[in-house]
Amino acid sequence: MISERYKQYSQHLVKKFGEKVYKLPVNLPGSCPNRDGRVGQGGCIFCDEEGSGFDCLPNTLSVKEQVEGSKGFFRKRFNAKKFIVYFQAFSNTYLPFGRFRDNILEAAGLDDLVGISISTRPDCVNDRYLDFLGEVKNEYNLDINIELGLQTVNYHTLEKINRGHTLAEFIDAVFRIKSRGFETCAHLILNLPWDNLADTVENAKILSALNVEYVKLHSLYIVRGTVLGDMYQNGEIEIITLDEYVERVVTFLEYLDPAVVIQRLVGKGPRESLLFSNWGTSWWLVKQRIEEFLEKNDTCQGMKFDYLNGKAVQDLAVMNN
Ligand code: SF4
Repeated sequence: MISERYKQYSQHLVKKFGEKVYKLPVNLPGSCPNRDGRVGQGGCIFCDEEGSGFDCLPNTLSVKEQVEGSKGFFRKRFNAKKFIVYFQAFSNTYLPFGRFRDNILEAAGLDDLVGISISTRPDCVNDRYLDFLGEVKNEYNLDINIELGLQTVNYHTLEKINRGHTLAEFIDAVFRIKSRGFETCAHLILNLPWDNLADTVENAKILSALNVEYVKLHSLYIVRGTVLGDMYQNGEIEIITLDEYVERVVTFLEYLDPAVVIQRLVGKGPRESLLFSNWGTSWWLVKQRIEEFLEKNDTCQGMKFDYLNGKAVQDLAVMNN
């Protein structure tokens, strides 16, 4: 019953591909325009040096070596047969086009692949890269999914966290991705210290209005040695309580289009140098709290999804005079 209260990714994949599908993370040596000076210096205030690639194999291995390494594990342990290669760390479309093309082709030619997922920033989505991905999709019959770090639709907060882009770049990227028939996954952090419950609602409404296909939620984790870490240690920011966070996630789900698939409800932080992550409890206990809240309040994803398609005239539209 609990699983039906929001649209879960694992079940979605089984429906789409006829069996369980496993994601294989790949870590490319790369950088980020928000760290190396092209867009900004130092990166997002919460970013550690690893660029979100902390669960990957070393980037000194080739794409094929990383994929085959993880594949072997999943085959042996779960008898896995279908896979999605997930370019996870840093901004994967922030590579010279030739290197991007070679890495994608190396992945696309591997066995038992049903899709490629590419994580990047909204300001690194460019037509040339997308056109090439369109050719890969057709030639190899692969699903292409672009994951965009957005974190919040509140552009004042985006400035505070030094994202180096605003909401407009995200909207532009989603339109370009959609026009090629690819899918978009948006990453959000619902407890950024400068956001409130109204921002949570707007996050859900904008993703729904844009017809984004997937969402990944992550509570804010704070790493020592980052700008955010310093702010936290100096008492300059306040983190909402776990109860308030659970309420935000549930509110987000209520306003979200029920067709959007939740790829991740709760994230894990890196293991090292953490100052704050998931209120000192495990990610699965946070997930359990959210699911219990949904159940207890008899609510679900899409419960308040009633605001699109001219809400003010919905009843007038059925009248002939
Ligand atoms: S976009 Fe990603 S890799 Fe770049 S600075 Fe922000 S969190 Fe770090």
